[in-house]
Amino acid sequence: MDDSTTTILYVEDNPDNRMLVQRILMVEGYRVLQAESAARAREILQTQTPDLILMDINMPDIDGYSLTAEFKQLPQLKHTPIIALTANVMRGDRERTLEAGCDGYLQKPVDVDALPGQIEYFLSKRYNL
Ligand code: MN
Repeated sequence: MDDSTTTILYVEDNPDNRMLVQRILMVEGYRVLQAESAARAREILQTQTPDLILMDINMPDIDGYSLTAEFKQLPQLKHTPIIALTANVMRGDRERTLEAGCDGYLQKPVDVDALPGQIEYFLSKRYNL
């Protein structure tokens, strides 16, 4: 495995979303790690430190806000932006993602054409965290 390849962890319970985002990001040359649950995400983080985490907010076992807050406690992830992905459009959601410690916010459905640029933007911010 080439350690210089930018690695993105995508925490998402929906397999269709995982496939779609994985396909887009792989075309862009990223290595994508998929976690279908909080438990799987924690397991991956025991051996890997992703350059960026995409965090679904609505998941059955835990909400992405809580998981983000948990991950933000990990010194290992201090340079890893966590970007919330949510279909929630209610007022206040953006504030909640920021309160939880998310470094950014993307709305679902994912904009296939815009996603690569959005990811690049968030990655460029990681050294300023
Ligand atoms: Mn979900």
